[in-house]
Amino acid sequence: MRKYIIMGVQGCGKGTQAKMLCKAYELAHISVGDIFRWNIANHTKLAARVQRLIRQGELVSDEIVADVVKSRLAEHDWNFGYILDGFPRNAVQAEFFLESYDIDAVIHIVVPDDVVRERVLSRRLCTGCGLDYNLIHHRPRKKDVCDVCGAPLKQRADDTPSAVADRLQTYHEKTAPILDLFRRKELVLEVDGTQPAEGVYEEIQTKLGLKTA
Ligand SMILES: [Zn+2]
Repeated sequence: MRKYIIMGVQGCGKGTQAKMLCKAYELAHISVGDIFRWNIANHTKLAARVQRLIRQGELVSDEIVADVVKSRLAEHDWNFGYILDGFPRNAVQAEFFLESYDIDAVIHIVVPDDVVRERVLSRRLCTGCGLDYNLIHHRPRKKDVCDVCGAPLKQRADDTPSAVADRLQTYHEKTAPILDLFRRKELVLEVDGTQPAEGVYEEIQTKLGLKTA
C-alpha cells in the first residue's frame, strides 16, 4: 500500500505527476478540486452547501473539506494506495489528517516563485476550443491564434502579475506550516519542479524508492 500527498504551487505540474504515478502504480488519484467540480456538475447536496457559502461570501470550511476527503477515502477503492492532491490546504486540515490517517510520504514539487510567475504569465487559452498554450513551451504557430480552430488566444483574467503575486503569497503563508508539520514527521521529499515532466517523474520515483537503479 502506498499513500502519498502531493504538494506544490499552482503551475508546478503536480496534476501531471499524480496522474503518471497513479497510472504506473495503480494508485487512486484523489483530487479535492476534481471532487468539488464533480459535485457541482452533478448538483449534489454538497454542491448546494458549498455554493450557498460562496454566495454568502464565505470560504468552504475545513470541516467540509475534511468531510469530503474522509468520505472519499471511505470508498476504499484504492487497493494499492492513493495520491491526495489539493489537500491539506492549511495546518488545521493537515493536523486533522495526521490524527486519523497515516501517510508514507509528502511529495513536494519545488518551483521558485520567479519560474512560476514566468510560467503563469506565458499561459494563453483558446477562446474557441479552450486549448491551453504556453508561450515558452507550447507556442501557437501563428501569434495569438489557435493552431486547431483558428480562434484568438487570450490570457486568463486572473493571470496578471499582481494576481500571481497574491496567489504565491497566499500559497506560501498556507503551506509553510503544513510542510513544517510534515517535516517534523520526516515525511517530506523535495523534488526539483523546474525540470521537464519526465525528469520530475524520475526524481519522484527514485526518492520514493520505487525505482531500483
Ligand atoms: Zn482553439
